Amino acid sequence: MNKIRVTIFNENMHDKTERILEVYPNGMHGAIKECLDADGRFETTIALQDMPEHGLTDEVLNNTDVLFWWGHMMHHEVDDAVVQKVYDRVIDGMGLVVLHSGHYSKIFKKLLGTGCDLKWRETGDLERIWVLKPSHPIAAGLDEYFELPHEETYGEHFAIPTPDDLVFMSWFSGGEVFRSGCCYERGNGKIFYFRPGHESFPTFYDANIRKVLVNSALWAATDCGKKQTYGHWLPDYNK
Ligand code: ZN
Repeated sequence: MNKIRVTIFNENMHDKTERILEVYPNGMHGAIKECLDADGRFETTIALQDMPEHGLTDEVLNNTDVLFWWGHMMHHEVDDAVVQKVYDRVIDGMGLVVLHSGHYSKIFKKLLGTGCDLKWRETGDLERIWVLKPSHPIAAGLDEYFELPHEETYGEHFAIPTPDDLVFMSWFSGGEVFRSGCCYERGNGKIFYFRPGHESFPTFYDANIRKVLVNSALWAATDCGKKQTYGHWLPDYNK
């Protein structure tokens, strides 16, 4: 069986600071890559924002089944031409997994068509992630809920369209709740938004989070690239 081709995009700015290097010596993209490589079903490529075309050249995008996206402080510097190319690939069937502060990326807002704003606070609250849809492939292998001892807090209202499927709901020890695992389809592409993953916490090493990363890559890749026919269409008796 062919491996699923995953490209991991990271803006890679926080990751260069001493404070974050202590948590992620190889960057967050390195931790995500390590998780997917360990699974064995994926072929992974890294794309960093300071690479030419942000590492998302036509060749890379055309050979990507699922694109992971982590960004935060440099969303505004992502080239609109690259955003359009990623958008076109999603509509054409590429999967997209948007992580944490990627909720505010140009590509996520363009695909969803809303502002995607939310409440936030960096006080290291405990996050309890409840599985709302145990039958969903992204929840495979998880218990009824799992916890991260410290994460950044996000709170509702999250300005997104109603998800096609809502797989996870987070509760924080400060009292907030947040729709933290949201599935969408746009064109022929599948999109999953997953909330955890603040740069200063070791979230991408957590065993449950790693299950979700693997599950979401498998889910977003399903049937991706299956070409549809559009336009004039003949009846069976004329074929
Ligand atoms: Zn954050």
